[in-house]
Amino acid sequence: MYNVPVIPIYREGVTLKFGKYVQTVVVVLLAVVISGCSLTGRNGDDLLEQGKFMPMADGFDFPVGDADGNGWGITGYDFLDWSSVSNSWHPGEDWNIPGAGNYDQGEPVYAIGHGQVVFSGWNTALGHVVLIKHRLPDNTFVWSQYAHLDRRDVNQGDIVQRRQQIGTVGRGPNNRFAAHLHFEIRSVELPYNAWPRTNGAAWEKSKVVQYWLRPSKFIQENRYYH
Ligand SMILES: [Zn+2]
Repeated sequence: MYNVPVIPIYREGVTLKFGKYVQTVVVVLLAVVISGCSLTGRNGDDLLEQGKFMPMADGFDFPVGDADGNGWGITGYDFLDWSSVSNSWHPGEDWNIPGAGNYDQGEPVYAIGHGQVVFSGWNTALGHVVLIKHRLPDNTFVWSQYAHLDRRDVNQGDIVQRRQQIGTVGRGPNNRFAAHLHFEIRSVELPYNAWPRTNGAAWEKSKVVQYWLRPSKFIQENRYYH
């Protein structure tokens, strides 16, 4: 897409070497300029948030347990289970150490991949919440959301790395729940407290899957292989 100017190469002695040298320098300089331009090109607004460069995700790991999620499982509501608490389809997965009761409270919660924290705060329904935006190699994005946290270790705007601890497992507001991680992956930009219902009426499943992905399936299909 860029025309590299042809530098004449003289075909005699020292001049030949000099010509090649000039051509190499020009090509290198053009490469630097072109690669620099791509950062502020048509995707530039997505790559720079609050003046920070969002790293591209190099794959994903599980948010609790070891990188493979060993020792943990979905023992609460699974993705798209009907939640009688919220009268809606559950848009994420509830992760626990099976049989641990509340003993998994305080266990570390990790960023599933490189990205940028777009929300870190407290909500009366969800407790402490962290929402992270991840850039994929094809320049599309997904958002991972971690709720009911006991503690948040990151702030809005922070750049985070895969497996960086972002908080700990909690029980939600006023110890409303048994300790677990409510975990979502969104394929669309949504408010941190988005929930698939409107004026109390649950969305159809077919609409929910236009906004939310099945978290463990997405991670398994996009693993970082250690
Ligand atoms: Zn949940």
